[in-house]
Amino acid sequence: MPPSSADAPAPSGRGAAPTLRTVALRKRYGDVRAVDDVSLAVDAGRVVAVVGPSGCGKSTLLRSIAGLEIPDGGTVEVDGRDVTRLPAHRRDIGMVFQDHALFPHLDVTRNVGFGLVEAKWGKADAAGRIRELLEAFGLADLSRRRVDALSGGERQRVALARALAPRPSVLLLDEPLASLDRALRERLAADLARTLHAPGFASVFVTHDQDEARTVGDDLIVMRAGRIAQAGAADAVVARPTDAWVARFLGHRNVYQGEIARRLPEGGGGAVLLRDELVRLTSIGAAAAPGGDVTAAVVRRVEHGRHGVGVEAWLVDEGVSVWWRGALRELGALPCVGDDVALHVPREAWLALAPDGGAPAEGTSAPSPPEVDSSSRRRRAEHEGPT
Ligand code: ADP
Repeated sequence: MPPSSADAPAPSGRGAAPTLRTVALRKRYGDVRAVDDVSLAVDAGRVVAVVGPSGCGKSTLLRSIAGLEIPDGGTVEVDGRDVTRLPAHRRDIGMVFQDHALFPHLDVTRNVGFGLVEAKWGKADAAGRIRELLEAFGLADLSRRRVDALSGGERQRVALARALAPRPSVLLLDEPLASLDRALRERLAADLARTLHAPGFASVFVTHDQDEARTVGDDLIVMRAGRIAQAGAADAVVARPTDAWVARFLGHRNVYQGEIARRLPEGGGGAVLLRDELVRLTSIGAAAAPGGDVTAAVVRRVEHGRHGVGVEAWLVDEGVSVWWRGALRELGALPCVGDDVALHVPREAWLALAPDGGAPAEGTSAPSPPEVDSSSRRRRAEHEGPT
């Protein structure tokens, strides 16, 4: 299941070594395989986002690449050079941490220039480079401000400028937005994506937030228990997960496993995903005329979220419950529990998955029909406008 280096995001250059490569990297703590046979490659100007549940090895992977941990096996290469045995400061790698790890008592200029002093840059060159970064990151007016008097977003920019000052080939970011509030995080994720797509360095970005991973990353690596569960172009991994665990981890709700899966198209291998982005919900309140790709369903639950409306509907013929999600404007009116609806489910919406060995042999949806009387429907909920 976990891919080898052949499945990891591939370098796009013609024959040139990728800017960062790890080959079969391993790190254990006692019995825990924190990083287990991880191979990846990232080209300059590209960003790989690493996601996975807490404890799956994301930080250990980053720290092993950075030289803050000594791996038990495998190699780390930067620009084709094996740096596995080199100390952190000689790897040509910059790092941005969750807490930003700035020097609170120093001003912005000294924080940004810190790595240049360490790398023994000449005074004039260092001053020029610092000026350039302060301008680029909108920090010029704050150059003499102590960093403990900055906002979270400003500190984030200082941390990025500091990591990029010595012009590293590789930038590693360990949850750099996690300490900020959600609104700021969403804004900064877009800024960060722009910064990291500058040519000249390759980035690996660890996050627990999948939206952030997709905003910032070109490629996505999903880690599970120290291993790469799936890797590839971010949108493709999200749209076409290969196994039931990855599908659920990435937020897919229509994942069926075991007996239920075997009753469904593409479910013969023991697990199947219904890709809700390909499902259309139509004909609210009117008995559907099934046929072709259209199937009759009864609404079981309705949710409003940040991302629009979610409707759970019981497919009468298939005997399973599915989630549809979309914008209210697509529906025209909000359905109620017990409503008859028609779902347009094209064949390609069903995607065969490898089953998750550790999961119970049940679908995500309860196999019992809805206990609602569709003749005595609740009053239609207030139409709250498009979301
Ligand atoms: P993540 O960043 O995905 O939350 P980590 O890389 O921090 O995961 O941890 C991976 C596994 O390694 C976890 O089981 C964690 O408890 C263990 N681990 C991490 N660092 C150490 C350490 N210094 N000593 C012992 N175990 C560790």
